[in-house]
Amino acid sequence: MKLDATDLRYVTSDEFRVLTAVEMGSKNHEVVPTSLIAQISGLRNGGVNKMIGELAKRNLVSKVQNAKYDGYRLTYGGLDYLAMRALSKRDSMYSVGNQIGVGKESDIYMVADAEGSEMVLKLHRLGRISFRAIKNKRDYLGKRKSASWMYMSRLAAQKEWAFMRVLHEHEFPVPKPIDQSRHCILMEFIDSYPLRQVSDVPSPGRLYSTLMDLIVRFARAGLIHGDFNEFNILIRRDTGEPVVIDFPQMVSTSHENAEWYFNRDVECIRRFFRRRFRYESALYPRFRKTLTETLDGDAFRLDVMVAASGFKQKDMKTLEEVRPKCCT
Ligand code: ADP
Ligand code: MG
Repeated sequence: MKLDATDLRYVTSDEFRVLTAVEMGSKNHEVVPTSLIAQISGLRNGGVNKMIGELAKRNLVSKVQNAKYDGYRLTYGGLDYLAMRALSKRDSMYSVGNQIGVGKESDIYMVADAEGSEMVLKLHRLGRISFRAIKNKRDYLGKRKSASWMYMSRLAAQKEWAFMRVLHEHEFPVPKPIDQSRHCILMEFIDSYPLRQVSDVPSPGRLYSTLMDLIVRFARAGLIHGDFNEFNILIRRDTGEPVVIDFPQMVSTSHENAEWYFNRDVECIRRFFRRRFRYESALYPRFRKTLTETLDGDAFRLDVMVAASGFKQKDMKTLEEVRPKCCT
């Protein structure tokens, strides 16, 4: 989906009120009745109809003809718009540039602030590939399929934001988090290549141990990345140092499947180094040993800090249920 920053300027304040009303109405309606949109926005019916027509033309909302009533729902375009408008109102970002990545469940754009400093905007788009998962979760999501995926995307962004902040505060090599709204995260741009694209490094052995040390450092702080692979490790263009990204699937070392996640992260790195660099080492971290050693040391629990940061355990569980990535 294309993002159009110029659109930010062409939505009138009344149209914006109507769009916000659709978003608010979506909290408990899959299809928001036009009368409710009018009520929330506090505008006259006639006025609302005209503005909603304008919004629909730009694909910010879409009309749904229901058996019971006609109404509208917010599109991903509308949600993108609301998030970017919030970020630009707070002066966090000013303009949108090129799309630099299409992840499994996200779109990544280069954006800039008013001074022209580059940043990265990550828009979560759950539901793009996890279609199979939703079939099994029909009870949970009910009929509110699209609204639910948007809700899940918000949760994923909030979770990623909470983790990125604590990790950054504790000097883990992650991008600096800048701002967050709805399903979006604004962060520092890392001038880098994903490890996936790197065919040659000066010392595979050194990079291997840096990455394994990082897995250990995460675990000692109570965390497992959960998707620690060559796509989520960026190699800085200038120094060759790794930077880790992509945190919506992080789990605590107290998670019931923690050891399985930990081993999978370790195995991903081992396999990649074997295949790409023909590098193999008998040395690799073991979950139990890592945790035992932690008890002797001065452990600090980042998982506990994330829980305290306001991202609820309940929301963590909800996300896990629709993104089953584990063996169980
Ligand atoms: P997904 O959850 O969809 O996998 P990621 O957060 O892993 O999304 O980002 C997808 C891709 O976008 C990465 O592989 C990387 O190439 C690029 N990217 C993401 N964040 C940054 C960043 N802060 N700086 C530079 N490139 C980034
Ligand atoms: Mg990724």
